[in-house]
Amino acid sequence: LSERLGGVFDRLTRQGALSEDDVKTALREVRVALLEADVSLPVARDFVKAVQDKATGQAVTKSVTPGQQVVKIVHDELVHVLAGDNEDPGALKIDNAPAPILMVGLQGSGKTTTTGKLAKRLKDRNGKRVLMASLDTNRPAAMEQLAILGTQIGVDTLPIVKGETAVQIAKRAKQQATFGGYDVYMLDTAGRLSIDEELMAQVEQVRDIVTPRETLLVVDGLTGQDAVTTAQNFDDRIGISGVVLTRMDGDGRGGAALSMRAVTGQPIKFVGLGEKMDALETFEPSRIAGRILGMGDIVALVEKAQETLEAEQAERMMKRFQKGQFNMNDLKGQLEQMVKMGGMEGMMGMMPGMQKMKKQIDAAGLDDKILRHQIALIDSMTKKERANPQLLQASRKKRVAKGAGLEVQELNRLLKQHRQMADMMKKMGKMGKKGMLRNLGG
Ligand code: GDP
Ligand code: MG
Repeated sequence: LSERLGGVFDRLTRQGALSEDDVKTALREVRVALLEADVSLPVARDFVKAVQDKATGQAVTKSVTPGQQVVKIVHDELVHVLAGDNEDPGALKIDNAPAPILMVGLQGSGKTTTTGKLAKRLKDRNGKRVLMASLDTNRPAAMEQLAILGTQIGVDTLPIVKGETAVQIAKRAKQQATFGGYDVYMLDTAGRLSIDEELMAQVEQVRDIVTPRETLLVVDGLTGQDAVTTAQNFDDRIGISGVVLTRMDGDGRGGAALSMRAVTGQPIKFVGLGEKMDALETFEPSRIAGRILGMGDIVALVEKAQETLEAEQAERMMKRFQKGQFNMNDLKGQLEQMVKMGGMEGMMGMMPGMQKMKKQIDAAGLDDKILRHQIALIDSMTKKERANPQLLQASRKKRVAKGAGLEVQELNRLLKQHRQMADMMKKMGKMGKKGMLRNLGG
């Protein structure tokens, strides 16, 4: 991503303004980035289109840092799509005890683990009495697994009765939850390696028996494109109310999150961040957005782009110095940059071989306030005076100082400083760039 966007940003930086074509080019790269993060193709396409509509309208009006602007628009839109209007991702509908929660998903997606994690969370944070039941009749080991987790986290599990069907277990869980005074009961369904009719029919039957308040689809965050088909199928047949993305502790880019959200329209509620029972967090859109875009890369790129821009300005200025041109506008430009960069350090660091001059200016005690005063003085000069400060006679000096709300002495100091700098610049200019570097290189 960084390499690809690098070229685009270089171009954006040079141009300084954002055209529709630029946005298109940048977004083509963003689309590739999304696909690399395992966002499904149609979802990536739609997303990019939405961003494009927003970006071209906005971007042409601003021209400060276009690269940054594109990144920000993309990032914001990503957060917007991921978050939806869901203000509290971790909220579950669990009033009206006993509230049934149905856990669905493919085998190995992390259903059983997540059931345990969520039960623990509801117990610890919400003070709920929770009952867990495994409906995985195909694999007795899976039922054992849930019972062991239950003991571990101090949550009750429905006693295992051999030979029962999933539907029978669901009925028994409902009864037990009602008469046992539980607030919530969680049904951990059986999974398959892929979607099949038998599985869907079974989950449907269970759903009709318990009428779940929440049906959470558990999806392995590392799976890419096929996760979309899974989500689509479950949502069509069962109807889900939320998604849990597991294995987000791995190095997947999290593109599944965007796909899930787009395909089901349901919120992502939690992310699994490990095998331990407390490795469950509420979903944070901006975090995942950053991950999908590889935000670290982009931020670094934008910074690099800005550095390039500033270096170019410095280069231009250097050329003027070499020609012996250094007027009040140049000085003002420098002063402004100094203020922006928080003093001399950055400015001097940017211009090669300026250590000696830096010392002189440091000695002159140039702090921010003085810099601002000087800028105000220059602002109060006429265009001609700025280009040629020798024009300033006593009466004009008074006016200029007054215009800036400052004393004439300060203006005199500024003019003297300008003369000294202009002299120095001229000398440096004569030396040529090489001589300049040799002389001042420090
Ligand atoms: P199920 O078949 O859907 O019930 O999946 P399981 O809950 O049995 O999980 C399958 C494997 O994935 C187990 O080894 C879990 O420990 C592991 N697992 C589940 N969630 C996470 C997670 O968020 N991060 C990591 N690293 N492993 C997980
Ligand atoms: Mg399981």
